[in-house]
Amino acid sequence: MTVESKHPETLALHAGYRNDPATGAVAVPIYQTTSYQFNHTEHAANLFALKELGNIYTRIMNPTCDVLEQRIAALEGGAAALALSSGQAASAFAIQNVAQAGDNVVSSTDLYGGTWNLFANTLKQQGIEVRFVDPADPENFRRATDDKTRAYYAETLPNPKLTVFPIREVADIGREFGIPLIMDNTAAPVICKPFAHGAAIIVYSTTKYIGGHGTSIGGLIVDGGNFDWEAYPERQPLLNTEDPSYHGAVWSQAAKPLGPIAYILKARVTLLRDLGSALSPFNAFQIIQGLETLPLRIREHCRNGAAVAEFLSGHAAVSKVIFAGAHTDAEQQRRAETYLGGQYGGLVGFELKDGLEAGRRFIDALQLFYHVANIGDARSLAIHPASTTHSQLSPEDKLATGVSDGYVRLSIGIEHIDDIIADLTQALDAATSRQAAAE
Ligand code: PLP
Repeated sequence: MTVESKHPETLALHAGYRNDPATGAVAVPIYQTTSYQFNHTEHAANLFALKELGNIYTRIMNPTCDVLEQRIAALEGGAAALALSSGQAASAFAIQNVAQAGDNVVSSTDLYGGTWNLFANTLKQQGIEVRFVDPADPENFRRATDDKTRAYYAETLPNPKLTVFPIREVADIGREFGIPLIMDNTAAPVICKPFAHGAAIIVYSTTKYIGGHGTSIGGLIVDGGNFDWEAYPERQPLLNTEDPSYHGAVWSQAAKPLGPIAYILKARVTLLRDLGSALSPFNAFQIIQGLETLPLRIREHCRNGAAVAEFLSGHAAVSKVIFAGAHTDAEQQRRAETYLGGQYGGLVGFELKDGLEAGRRFIDALQLFYHVANIGDARSLAIHPASTTHSQLSPEDKLATGVSDGYVRLSIGIEHIDDIIADLTQALDAATSRQAAAE
């Protein structure tokens, strides 16, 4: 029995699993096994021929990972999901599943640095061109499209700019051509539902909010089951021509008896089989523990994030606050309302009037916040990009990515808001004190 609900709080605890059929265990067991006994030779043959779905080998599927996959698919309103060893693996697979050498993808410029590197360098070396366009105008995606464009790619809430991506506008352009929109929703789980706005595929780094406790690297791809691959044989050749690596399977056809899961089935049985970026059952277990309280935690992240943005906007040392709920531009406000539904996430940026040195002093004075290159932990985190992640960039490139010398990025946790504000207050005092400035 599985519990039916449309509420994320319930799905996060119940979707995809009730109790272990062998033992009755209520917590999802860690199935720490590499392989699975076949019932008989016909059963084994059916599994390999995809006539029935079942466990063969943990590189390709595992019952603990399966619960995580079913749960995230239910939360997103998608058809199926694939767990992978990191968010990076998820982004790479999401593209490689539809694009091969000679093809291209159109992506938003506003990306996590690791994704940028993957797109600008590694995929390029593999012959896949990524064309970067400014998402301020959704029509830029159309302008960059040609016959070889296989996917559009973007992040819902990219930092440091924290401008919300126009999901519906770009998804609709893509659907005119037979091009799926892949959304990295890492920074906005629960609050943004990309499939409801026309996206076809969702990518997550579960390392962030979904895991939520800073213990495990992981990634997920979710298939919306809402994209008609078969309708675009020329646009989507990898889903519509015989795959020599799987007895000539044509994925848009082969998957039909199993549901609208052609994209994710192909990713599992070809890319995961061949490239091997499997999530370990232990990490899947950790990520499931996080997922079970995700809707609750996200509410607190959003509440505390909004309170911090308000506090910072009234502080004398701060020249600018960057927060999805604090944009002054009307179109940005509309996008934030439409796609985040009145909650704006836990990421808050701000600029210190006194620039680079003040940024360093602020970080060094923090006591509650951790100084780490991460986001989405239950704990509050901070980083000063100009002296760390972005220190290698030229001043022009730094500014183009939205990072000024005094820019600080905060990932607001779920501690009591009074303690968060108290730590920020004393660190801002330290950043601006005359004594510190003289040192
Ligand atoms: N996508 C976003 C938005 C991220 O912030 C990150 C990591 O910071 C990734 C993808 C990559 O995820 P992972 O570190 O799990 O490989």
